[in-house]
This record gives sequence, structure tokens and C-alpha cells, in this order.
Amino acid sequence: MKEKLRKIQDIEILENVDIKEYTTFKISCKVRYLIKPKNESSLRDVIKILKTESIRYKVIGKGSNLIFVSSTFDGVLISLDSFNNLKIEEEKVIVGAGYSLMKLAFETANLGLSGLEFASGIPGSVGGSLINNAGAYGSDMASVVIAAKVLTKDDEIKRFTKEELKFCYRSSYLQYKSDFICLEVEFQLEKKNKEEILEIIKKRREKRWEAQPLEYPSAGSVFRNPKEKSAWELIDALGFKGKKIGNAEVSQKHANFIINRGNATGKDVKKLILEIKEAVKKEYNIDLIYEQEFVE
Ligand SMILES: Cc1cc2nc3c(=O)[nH]c(=O)nc-3n(C[C@H](O)[C@H](O)[C@H](O)COP(=O)(O)OP(=O)(O)OC[C@H]3O[C@@H](n4cnc5c(N)ncnc54)[C@H](O)[C@@H]3O)c2cc1C
Repeated sequence: MKEKLRKIQDIEILENVDIKEYTTFKISCKVRYLIKPKNESSLRDVIKILKTESIRYKVIGKGSNLIFVSSTFDGVLISLDSFNNLKIEEEKVIVGAGYSLMKLAFETANLGLSGLEFASGIPGSVGGSLINNAGAYGSDMASVVIAAKVLTKDDEIKRFTKEELKFCYRSSYLQYKSDFICLEVEFQLEKKNKEEILEIIKKRREKRWEAQPLEYPSAGSVFRNPKEKSAWELIDALGFKGKKIGNAEVSQKHANFIINRGNATGKDVKKLILEIKEAVKKEYNIDLIYEQEFVE
């Protein structure tokens, strides 16, 4: 496989990588190959080889929603970091899937474009955020996305409209299609007063720093909020704050965050998450749904 991959132009192949450096949780996990295609054509060539050789692969964005459970990942990771084209025409923005959503939020705000204020504290890529319909403060990707360019499982490049993307709370059609890859996203923003947009962003960032343990590595909120109550309230009421397994700890600041206190392992984090889920089910008969994703 390696020889075949090496023949592809415009890719970077990293070998024996610790994925710790590529995720916000900073959990160690060894990966044999991390491949960075530089354009659509090389991405398609990589996928074709991996499929022909029946090798498991997974695309990663900024790794801000992932928990690598084991100490090794048996497959190939594909990073779209190089898919970072950006085109802004009036209120329309077209941006590569690998682009940082946070960076985009600041850049558009500075141009007086409103719509991505919610995203200024979300450390994901544009592609990963589309897949998860990332959101905050009553807004989300669905509120501003008009379409996405996608590489389908049949090696076709197709434009999916907002309707076809079927956004729901923290989810989209593509979340259930692991062999579809988001290449580019189109946003419709709105011209507004730049100072007002920047002020909203500033206030929200202050609020985040007050409420969330951003000084520690994590993957953000562990569970989606059920309709009955916020997940953090349920977890807090059961006394989980400060509960530790190894170096994975339920944050004292925000009960729906698990933080990495040092060399937490994916297994520690998973164990803690399952313990919380079980306790909430037992006490409240509520099935908490994961917001984060276990990569096994
Ligand atoms: C401190 C902190 C705060 C957070 N706050 C929020 C918040 O307020 N709201 C919120 O919604 N989330 C939040 N998150 C979670 C996370 O940032 C979002 O879910 C983000 O959108 C994930 O993007 P990513 O690029 O990191 O995706 P990753 O974690 O890398 O991947 C997520 C999933 O998307 C897939 N994927 C990634 N890119 C592509 C692509 N181009 N094509 C196809 N599949 C792809 C991956 O295979 C994986 O299944 C927070 C996380 C942290 C650490």
C-alpha cells in the first residue's frame, strides 16, 4: 500500500504518528499513517487505493470532538488541513473543509459579516463542524450554510443543498455517511455593524472562559442536552464533579466536560463517560446521547 500511496503526487504521508498532537483532548494514540492530500484529485486517489486494499480510514478535522479509545488506531487517518481555500463575495463565503471555523468567525466578523458569531469559541474545522451541525447560543451551522461540496462514496463530487444536508440538533445527513467527505462549504452571511458583531463575540468568549474549563484539554461537551434538563445539571446533581478515573476528570467548573489532567487514556475517559451515562439512566431514566465520538 505504501508504495502505491507514494506514487500519488500532492500528498504528505506521516508515519507512526501520535494523534495526541492532532486532537484537543491530547490523548495518546499511535497511528501508522496520517495522510494529508493537498487537493481533491490526490484525495480521490488516496481513497481509491485504501478502498481497493480494504484498509480502514477516517477523515479528521481539528480532532476537537474525538476520543481515541485505544492506544493504537488500526487504520489510516486523512487530514484535510490543506483544504483551506477561502473566497468571500459580498455576503457569500466559500471555504475549504479544513479551514478553522474559529478563524473564519473572526475573519468574517472583521469584514462586518454577521452569522458566525456563535462559532468564535468552537475549535473545529469547517468540515467537521458541518458534519456535526456545530452550534452554540441558539445558532448553528444550519442557520448559515447554504450548501456543501461533497465527495461521495462512488467517487462523485456533488453539491448538497442545505435541504439535502438534513441538519438536526448537532447532526446532519453526512454524520451517518462515514464514506462521504465534505470538501467545501458555502455560507450565506449578512452585512451588519462590525463593532457590534465583535462585541457579541467578545462577550460570548468571556462567558465561555467563565463557564468552561478551557485551560485543560478536552473535547467540549460530553453529552447532548436532553429535552428535560441540561446535561450538566443532571450530572452535577449526581455529585460527579471532580470524579476521576486515572487522569480523566469530570470538570469542577462544568459537569458536562471531562478534562485530561495529564496522561489520561481513552479507556479512562470512556469508562468515566459510561459511568455517568449509567447513573443518569438509573436516577432519572434519561438516555443521554453522546456529543463526542469514540474512535475505537
Ligand atoms: C473547548 C471545546 C469547546 C467546544 N464547544 C462546542 C460548541 O459550543 N458547540 C459545538 O457544537 N461543538 C463544540 N465543541 C466540539 C467540536 O469543536 C465540534 O463538534 C467541531 O465542529 C468538530 O470539528 P472538528 O473539525 O474538530 O471535527 P473532528 O473532531 O475532527 O471530527 C468530527 C467528525 O467529523 C468527521 N469529519 C471531520 N471532517 C470531515 C470532513 N471534511 N468530511 C467528512 N467527515 C469529516 C470525522 O470523521 C468525525 O467523525 C467544542 C470542543 C471543544 C474542545
